[in-house]
Amino acid sequence: MSNFVSVIFCLNCGSRYVEIKGPTADNRMIAYCRTCHSEAEIGRFTLGRCCVSNTELQKARDARGLKNKPER
Ligand SMILES: [Zn+2]
Repeated sequence: MSNFVSVIFCLNCGSRYVEIKGPTADNRMIAYCRTCHSEAEIGRFTLGRCCVSNTELQKARDARGLKNKPER
């Protein structure tokens, strides 16, 4: 059985090493890229972790939203 999940990638460098920092003083979370150190506030969302195969991870990468082409 397989389950659908969403994977978060860094839009700046494409890294999958995205962490959540926070909450901030006003209870917002910060997405932080461990690879290029980009960060951005993402209120109302957080992350969970699990292991996926490289094949599945590549599928997520291929389906990821980019500028002018958001993933739905
Ligand atoms: Zn990055």
